[in-house]
Amino acid sequence: MTEPGAFAMTIGGRPVAGTAWFDVLNPATEEVVGRAPDCSRAQLDEAVEAARGAFPAWRATPLAERQRLVARIGEVIRELAGDLKYLLTAEQGKPHAAAEADLLDGARWCEAVSTLSPPVIVNEDDAERRSETHFVPIGVVGGIAPWNFPIALAMWKVAPALVAGNTMVLKPSPFTPLTTLRIGEALQAVLPPGVLNIVTGQDELGPWMTAHPGIDKISFTGSTQTGRKVMASAAATLKRVTLELGGNDAAIVLPDVDVRDTAEKLFWAAFFNAGQICIATKRVYIHADIYDELLDALTAYAATVKVGNGAHQGVDLGPIQNRLQYRRVVDLIEDARQQGYALRTAGEVPDGPGYFVPITFVDNPPDDARIVAEEQFGPVLPLMKFDSVDEAVARANASDYGLAGSVWSKDEQAALAIAGRLETGTVWINEALHVTPFASFGGHKQSGMGVENGIDGMLEYTNPQTIVLRKAGGGEA
Ligand code: NAD
Repeated sequence: MTEPGAFAMTIGGRPVAGTAWFDVLNPATEEVVGRAPDCSRAQLDEAVEAARGAFPAWRATPLAERQRLVARIGEVIRELAGDLKYLLTAEQGKPHAAAEADLLDGARWCEAVSTLSPPVIVNEDDAERRSETHFVPIGVVGGIAPWNFPIALAMWKVAPALVAGNTMVLKPSPFTPLTTLRIGEALQAVLPPGVLNIVTGQDELGPWMTAHPGIDKISFTGSTQTGRKVMASAAATLKRVTLELGGNDAAIVLPDVDVRDTAEKLFWAAFFNAGQICIATKRVYIHADIYDELLDALTAYAATVKVGNGAHQGVDLGPIQNRLQYRRVVDLIEDARQQGYALRTAGEVPDGPGYFVPITFVDNPPDDARIVAEEQFGPVLPLMKFDSVDEAVARANASDYGLAGSVWSKDEQAALAIAGRLETGTVWINEALHVTPFASFGGHKQSGMGVENGIDGMLEYTNPQTIVLRKAGGGEA
């Protein structure tokens, strides 16, 4: 464990200690990994002031230079990934390889997004006038990140916000703040002071940010429940908001698939990161003809997967990240048991401390079961039988969530036709979880508002500004 003072916030380009500290626990051992600064209200004001102060010079910095510095953020994270993966595993729980992948994804995002530029649209250009729409930065962006992919999902915000000319105050989750703090410390030598401020705190800090009059936009990733509060709070100052929220992704499996191959791919679609992914497969609708075979294949594959402390060799899946979420997942499994649904568990979980849950399948529960209707965000998966495609599509769409979904079939045309009928922001065919820095990503319905990634994601950090030039000698007005 580290002493208070070992981790610093970054405010105005300088390391800033907390006036108070909070413990960050290792979810595999429940031991303290380190203490994070507990940002006071005055320190948040300082961070916002620093970002506001840096904004005029940063927006005036040539785009190419902003892009170069964002690419440099990526390089710095890439250089640190081999060392920081240990800290990330300790605070987040995922195995070292997955922790390194989160860091490298953050790096990749910065490098890729640094190649994007906000467009200039020419609306009219004739003898009388030229009208162009430019996309100008909004000002100070408040970034609020979750605990499941602490680095990659933070960089989904940092890279486009900075390239577009905004400055930022970034808040990682209180469950996983330490690696982000380290990256902030390393970036003090890279970015002009105040361009990227990193603050950590507990339950009050997020609401202080969403209500802060000095923050112009909130980019939030987290649960739908919190997303509603963010939007309500942002309304008071009419902040722009981008909300990336929860999901309840359905997979629809047609009877023509290769069952073993599909079982393995579906397993990882549902259980990678111990199921703690917004776009994890959270419900599987399987054609009745192959239902039993696929359930058996999934259970057999699950038995080959090792759950344990992510710091140990050979572990494939780590624990649930925090006690609150652990209680939620255990409660959902308990509810399924009490309702009399058939459960299948696979593999063993370590004895002793740690938030471990065994891989669990729920065998054909009804659609109104909590485990089907709610987002589980953990290693438990309901499997349901269907007879007709129309029925499967209707059941998949019967959700307030609309983040992503997948269709599995050898018949690409049939799968594409189903994909077009799903009410979600992304649909994969014969895979899941694939995201790129270049494609719009966002939720329909209560899975979010606005998008991240691609040019559309960058434009969320801009205001359109139309400039109309009446040309000299261009005729009567
Ligand atoms: P959460 O909503 O509990 O917390 C997310 C962040 O919001 C944290 O930094 C937290 O401190 C902060 N926060 C909490 N209350 C706040 C408030 N009232 N105002 C402002 N900020 C506040 O989410 P989580 O448990 O960290 O993450 C899991 C959830 O995130 C799941 O529902 C998952 O599906 C979702 N998620 C969505 C995406 C996506 O891109 N759509 C990606 C990852 C996770």
